Amino acid sequence: MEETLAPALQQRREQSLYRQRRIVTGPQGSRLSLDNGSVLNFCSNDYLGLANHPDIIAALKHGADEYGVGAGASHLINGHSHAHHALEEELADFSGRARALLFSSGYMANLGVITSLVGKGDAILEDRINHASLIDAGLLSGARLQRYLHADIGSLNKHLQKQVNNKRRLIVTDGVFSMDGDLAPLPALSATAQQHHAWLMVDDAHGMGVLGKQGRGTVDHFELDKKQVPVLMGTLGKAFGTFGAFVAGSEALIETLIQQARSYIYTTALPPAVAVATRTSLELLRAADDRRDKLGTLIQQFRSGAEQLGLTLMASQTPIQPLIVGDAQQAMTLSDTLLQKHQILVSAIRPPTVPKGSARLRITLCANHTATQVDQLLSALDSSTQKMTP
Ligand SMILES: *Cc1c(COP(=O)(O)O)cnc(C)c1O
Repeated sequence: MEETLAPALQQRREQSLYRQRRIVTGPQGSRLSLDNGSVLNFCSNDYLGLANHPDIIAALKHGADEYGVGAGASHLINGHSHAHHALEEELADFSGRARALLFSSGYMANLGVITSLVGKGDAILEDRINHASLIDAGLLSGARLQRYLHADIGSLNKHLQKQVNNKRRLIVTDGVFSMDGDLAPLPALSATAQQHHAWLMVDDAHGMGVLGKQGRGTVDHFELDKKQVPVLMGTLGKAFGTFGAFVAGSEALIETLIQQARSYIYTTALPPAVAVATRTSLELLRAADDRRDKLGTLIQQFRSGAEQLGLTLMASQTPIQPLIVGDAQQAMTLSDTLLQKHQILVSAIRPPTVPKGSARLRITLCANHTATQVDQLLSALDSSTQKMTP
C-alpha cells in the first residue's frame, strides 16, 4: 500500500498542492490561537462572529444538561428531539417556507436533496464553480449532469435546449459563490427555470445571515419568492456559528426528503444540544442588523484600501474577498509570509478547489474585526505582495 500511495503524495508536494492542517487551540474569533501563538484571523466563515457568542455557548450547555450529548439514533428511529423539531419550525418561518428539514451537514443536505429530486432519465444543470458537494450530488444522482459557464444565462439556456427529452430538470446554484464571493444572477436564473419548466435550487451557505432582511439570504436579497426558488438550502456552520444544515421548501418537498434522502435517513441526528444552541443563534442572527452593518463597513474599507494599493479584487460585495494570485506556489508563499512575518492567517486556495491558474488568497471578513485589524491586513498585503514577481 505504501508504495502505491507515496508517489501521488510526493507529486502533490512538488506541485505545491499538498494540503496540511493547522492546529487551533481556542475559539473562533478575529484573533485565533494556533499552537505556535495568536494570529489575526481572516479565513473563517463565522461572518457574524457568533461561533463564540456567550448566549449561544450558554444555550449549548443548557441543551447538554437537558438532552445529554448524543442524539442516540437517526431522526426516523428515536433521535428526533423536541429541540430539533422546534428549530425546524423556526427555520421554516425564517425562510418563509412551509417546512424545513435539518441535516447533519451541508454536504449531506446537498447529497440528500439532489439525489431525491433527480435520477436516471433526468437532467441537472449546475454552475461550473458550484460547491463540491453540489457537484458530487449531481454525479451521485445518476441524472445527466451539465455544468454551465459561471453565472452565464446564455450557456445555461444552451444546455437546457439540449435537454428537452429529460423528464425532470433541476438547476442548481450557490447563492453566494464560496470561493469568489459574487452572487448568482438569481432573478435571471429563476426566470429561465420557469420558462423551461425546470426547478431551481439555491445553496445559500454563504448568504444566510449576511444578506437580505434579518439575514434571510440571497433569495430574499433579490426579493424572490418560494415559487421562484422552490428548493432552498442553508448551512448552520457559517454565519449561524453552530453546526449542521437545513433544506426549506414545500410540504411535498420536505416529506419527499424524509421518505427518500439517504443522507437524512441513514445517519445519526445532530446532537440535540446543537439544535438548542442554534435556536439561540437564529434569534441573534435575525436581530443582528448592527453586525451586518458593521460587516458592510469593513467590506467597503477593505475594498477601497486594496484598490488604493493597486491590488486586483474580484467583483464581490460580500465578506468573501478573494485576491487572485494565479500560481499555486506563489499563493502558498504569500499565505506563509503573511503568517510568519505578520501573524495574519489567510488561507491559500488552490486547485482543484478553484480552477487551474486561479490560486488565490481567500480573505474573509467578520463583524468582529476592527477597522484597525483591517488596516493591519492591508499594510501586510502591501509589503508582502511587493516582493512577489508578477
Ligand atoms: C460549506 C458549504 C457547504 C457544506 O456545508 P457543511 O455544513 O460545512 O457540510 C455546502 N455548500 C456550500 C456552498 C458551502 O460553502
